[in-house]
Amino acid sequence: MTRTVLALTAALLASAASASTLIDHANGIQVDASGHVQHFTGLLIDDDGKVVRLLHPGEPLPKATTAIDARGQTVMPGFIDAHGHVLGLGFEALQLNLTGTSSIDDLKQRLRDYAAAHPEVRWIIGTGWNQELWPVKNFPTSADLDSVVSDRPVVLERVDGHAIVANSAAMKAAGVTAATQAPPGGRIENGLFVDAARGLIENSIPAPTAGEMDAALDKAQQILLGFGVTGVGAMSVSSDEWATFRRAGDAGKLQVRLMAYGLNGPLPEVPKPTGWLYGDHLRMAGAKFFADGALGSRGAWLKKPYADDPNTTGLPRHSDAELRAMEDRAAAAGFQVATHAIGDAANAQVIGTYEWLNGKYGTNRRWRIEHAQIVDCADLPRIGRGHMIASMQPTHQTSDRLMAEKRLDPARLKCAYAWQSMLRTGAKLAFGTDFPVESPNPFPGLSAAISRQDVNGQPPGGWYPEERVTLGQALHAYTRGGAYAGFAEDRIGSLDPGKWADFVIVDRDPAKVNPQELARTQVLETWVGGKKLWSREPSAAPTERGK
Ligand SMILES: [Zn+2]
Repeated sequence: MTRTVLALTAALLASAASASTLIDHANGIQVDASGHVQHFTGLLIDDDGKVVRLLHPGEPLPKATTAIDARGQTVMPGFIDAHGHVLGLGFEALQLNLTGTSSIDDLKQRLRDYAAAHPEVRWIIGTGWNQELWPVKNFPTSADLDSVVSDRPVVLERVDGHAIVANSAAMKAAGVTAATQAPPGGRIENGLFVDAARGLIENSIPAPTAGEMDAALDKAQQILLGFGVTGVGAMSVSSDEWATFRRAGDAGKLQVRLMAYGLNGPLPEVPKPTGWLYGDHLRMAGAKFFADGALGSRGAWLKKPYADDPNTTGLPRHSDAELRAMEDRAAAAGFQVATHAIGDAANAQVIGTYEWLNGKYGTNRRWRIEHAQIVDCADLPRIGRGHMIASMQPTHQTSDRLMAEKRLDPARLKCAYAWQSMLRTGAKLAFGTDFPVESPNPFPGLSAAISRQDVNGQPPGGWYPEERVTLGQALHAYTRGGAYAGFAEDRIGSLDPGKWADFVIVDRDPAKVNPQELARTQVLETWVGGKKLWSREPSAAPTERGK
């Protein structure tokens, strides 16, 4: 009797263990640990969703419960975006998109459609209008908005972020009347609130509800999967965001793997890093700090004055001692430390801080420099020597190029967005997009990484082309590098046996197309943990506003 039960159990176990999936006839591509491109023809996945092995030409096909014919299509590991803002992406996509409006009537029509489609939205928030593109170049007014929506607040931001227009309901909710004076540095005009006056309205916009945050996370995950992004270094995570991630995990709704970094340090309710949660879908990994601002607004902290404004060097966020003390506290609690640094002075400060942390905690803590955009060439080797991670965004280079040339002189551009120099010093490179600042689509980033050109091939020959990386190096930074940057290389970042079967099927072979064609690669299917979570509807594109 006992023996029969045991035999039955063994048989059941055997059948469960053999519930496997075989992907065959694939044009499989991934990079090895040293960035060399490897090819494979198929993939055997176990019942847990992990890779059993990769197949190579001429090998006999293993038995599997389910066999899927990839019909020669290209299969690659899922992308890991080392630096993105998950809820920011979702919220942006859920708001009213006014990019490219052609007239005030077009703006009104889009507002009317959005209001009708979203009766549940308490405050209608939109962005992207630019009256300079309209036949009549007048700013929109509160009366324009009132004529379309009068029963709830509407706030629409100009494309440059410097002005918003509000309807009467929004002004009423904010307590703004005809008698309200604009603060210094601001201006109010027929419902238009410019610069410092924006706060009069914006401070009254209610914080999102838990339900709205859940919706934003769902939306963000759909967008990310549509672009083949299966893992994210989730930056600047607030307490509300962390709670949203946990709710999604508890409900079994986490699809993209998130490595979270608390905003301005460890969150009070998460005093120590967590292990992996929800089947390796969520982990509180680190603490994110800021050393400076951005180059465009001259907030980046430079060693010498801006080329186009000799009166300023930008601003540090913290003194050396202050940054060191904050990061020391986070490191002592076991967190990985990630610091935003754009300007060469900020990068030098962060490098110095990390060298100090290395002395105290050892060199295996993978301190991360986020962006590492403008680095003094003399400081560059210290990044590799200190075993630091350069978390960089190739599409920032193509977006910033003309602006960076105004802000900086050629001497300082030499080690700007310096991916190849970074690698040569031995730094670990992780790529991402800083979405929603840039689109989370990894392919324009891969294209920029290998060409130093934008999606239209500009500038010819590439911008400081010596900083190009090879396709293998770019793929590495976008897969294995992103995993390493989040202490996750034991489970994601490649399709090696024992790791999660997180992969994408795409419409072209990245190794066989030119950079401009590479940038236009489309994802056909996205799989996470051996399950197909996203597939392209015929003629559908991943929905993402304005990018
Ligand atoms: Zn960011």
